[in-house]
Amino acid sequence: KAKEAGKDRILVFDYPMNDSFIERMHLEKQLFMAMENNEFELYYQPQMDLTRNTITGLEALLRWNNPELGEVSPHKFIKAAEDSHLIIPLGTWVLTTACTFLKKLHDSGLHHLTMSINISMIQLLQADFNEIVLDTIQTCGLDPAYLELEITESVLVESYDLVTSKLNELKKHNIKIALDDFGTGYSSLSYLTNLPISTLKIDKSFIDSIRTGTHQDALIEQIIIIGKRMNMCVIAEGVEQTMQLEYLQEQGCDKIQGYLYSKPLSAQNVIQFLNPN
Ligand code: C2E
Ligand code: MG
Ligand code: MG
Ligand code: MG
Repeated sequence: KAKEAGKDRILVFDYPMNDSFIERMHLEKQLFMAMENNEFELYYQPQMDLTRNTITGLEALLRWNNPELGEVSPHKFIKAAEDSHLIIPLGTWVLTTACTFLKKLHDSGLHHLTMSINISMIQLLQADFNEIVLDTIQTCGLDPAYLELEITESVLVESYDLVTSKLNELKKHNIKIALDDFGTGYSSLSYLTNLPISTLKIDKSFIDSIRTGTHQDALIEQIIIIGKRMNMCVIAEGVEQTMQLEYLQEQGCDKIQGYLYSKPLSAQNVIQFLNPN
């Protein structure tokens, strides 16, 4: 079957079965136009520090609002943006927008806040990726220590050596690296010792199964122990219930992100969230 469809197509358009080729091409065209028409927006989800009992950071999450399609989920369009390589200019836009916003928050008195930004493998593998990141930080007048780049383990399977050296260079500049969706995908514990990881993000699928009588709790406990032992910050994502928060607190998890505290908010709404009254 793969041969019938042609080698090139299989390589380039690795889409879910239910979406037709035509639909996908259409989506990619709409994405290109969306850049032109400013249809993208960044939302920000607060990250709660459990020991300090305060919001210490935000994760930037991309939103696409299209007049024809409505709100499109990142799970749907990020893949198309990667396949079309539109993720490169889009990712640069995300970086600039999030850093500019963070600088504004710092200047407004929220000096301690960090910003976490999701980075796609396609971006990371660009020759000038580090340069773009460092230039953006400098242009915005930000202290690089307040920036964290979130990468997923699937990124690391490819071009491991190249990725390692790029991340090490960013680390030299004090930029933090978080391993997103930790525990899912192509996990390898050796990443933890070989890469300059400062934060582990425990995937929501683990959080969903807290105290449901599965063995997942054992995994969460060990992830927290390993993270602490390696001087990493451990953050749980997708925390929705007080029971989950209490469990994570008991286990010594450092930070929490989830609907329990806040959904991702628009720039305007997150400012209100951070400055009550
Ligand atoms: P992620 O980086 O793992 O982000 C966490 C996702 O979980 C976000 O979905 C967030 O809205 C959602 N979430 C957070 N707390 C809860 C909760 O308590 N309950 C539930 N049900 N969901 C929660 P979102 O915003 O739809 O983003 C999905 C994925 O798309 C992200 O997963 C990330 O991999 C990707 N993504 C989003 N923005 C960007 C971006 O700017 N660049 C890149 N390359 N990828 C992005
Ligand atoms: Mg993330
Ligand atoms: Mg995640
Ligand atoms: Mg994810």
